[in-house]
Amino acid sequence: MIPLNKPYLPDQNRYQQYLQTAFDSQRLTNDGPLVQQLKAALEQYLGVKYLLPVVNGTMALQLAYKTFNLKGNAVTTPYSFIATSSSLQWLNIHPNFADIETKSLNLCPDKALAAINRETSALVPVHVYGNPCDVEAFERIKAKTKVKLIYDASHAFGIKLGERSILSYGDASTLSFHATKLFHCVEGGAVIFNKEKDYRRAARMINFGIAPENGHISGPGINGKMSELHAAMGLALLGDIDNILARRNQLFDYYKTLLCPYFEFPLWHHEASQNAIYFPVIFKSAADCNQAFLTLKKQGIGSRRYFSPSLNTLTDTFSGQSVSCPVSEGYAQRLLCLPLYFDLTEEEVEEVCSTLINSLALKQENR
Ligand SMILES: *Cc1c(COP(=O)(O)O)cnc(C)c1O
Repeated sequence: MIPLNKPYLPDQNRYQQYLQTAFDSQRLTNDGPLVQQLKAALEQYLGVKYLLPVVNGTMALQLAYKTFNLKGNAVTTPYSFIATSSSLQWLNIHPNFADIETKSLNLCPDKALAAINRETSALVPVHVYGNPCDVEAFERIKAKTKVKLIYDASHAFGIKLGERSILSYGDASTLSFHATKLFHCVEGGAVIFNKEKDYRRAARMINFGIAPENGHISGPGINGKMSELHAAMGLALLGDIDNILARRNQLFDYYKTLLCPYFEFPLWHHEASQNAIYFPVIFKSAADCNQAFLTLKKQGIGSRRYFSPSLNTLTDTFSGQSVSCPVSEGYAQRLLCLPLYFDLTEEEVEEVCSTLINSLALKQENR
């Protein structure tokens, strides 16, 4: 059995040491010392300012939407995990879907610009698989139309464009620290703001709207705080992050070497680093993809059409006229993500690849 994903578990003693500080101080939540330590460590590691830890990645998105008071609709990609769009809809902000680029699989700036209308308050692009969007093009659209620009950077932990963190673009970027992600706190997330005043506003909002300095309530809020016990996991894991990234990248490169002759892959931004959070392969047809999925499953190998369905097709969930996004709908049917996690071995990568390659030969015979 080779699962699609396994959460990374840090050394239990090290985790225990962080937990011990919480037991000693008897501080369990409310912006305690471990959350503050994690915030500082992440800001330094990621090379960003104004990082606010929160309870999960979906809260991070909603907090960013609330901080910038989004209304009406937000132009976003149909090719993402459901949370990008359902978090908008939950706040009565209509996800206004525009199609993706053929090569990068990220929201297409031209199509996004064309989708902007009088009700649009923001763009919410996603760095899909950690591959940076065309951030310069989105910056130009923001300057021209004055919409807010919020990146769902849930996949983009540690990604840089040249020397600059991808998280430093736009008005805000959000991260997910869910157990299935590259870096995690069991459950958790963060918003990285561009401006200090937005960070301060959001910090009040996640504490019921109460200002930490004077206890004043300046607007409605919610409880979005990360706990000390979750921060402990993050701190323990952050000690291993360079190893995690190195190992994942090794496995990613090995997959690529073995599968290059047979498959295509999303085109990576030429200036970007790589974090190997997923290993996506593109098939020639939906039928090939389906055959591969079933053959892998029979061998006990997990894979997933990530991302499927194309979110614009969920018209019941995202009430509104259906829009057609043919590029996204196509990839939703002919792309699989393969097993990729720290403990995966080279032998297992070889097994996945040979099963995959054989599945295509099987299909030929069936014709
Ligand atoms: C994981 C993920 C989220 C949601 O994060 P949670 O921490 O699970 O709430 C949002 N957007 C994308 C693209 C994700 O992959």
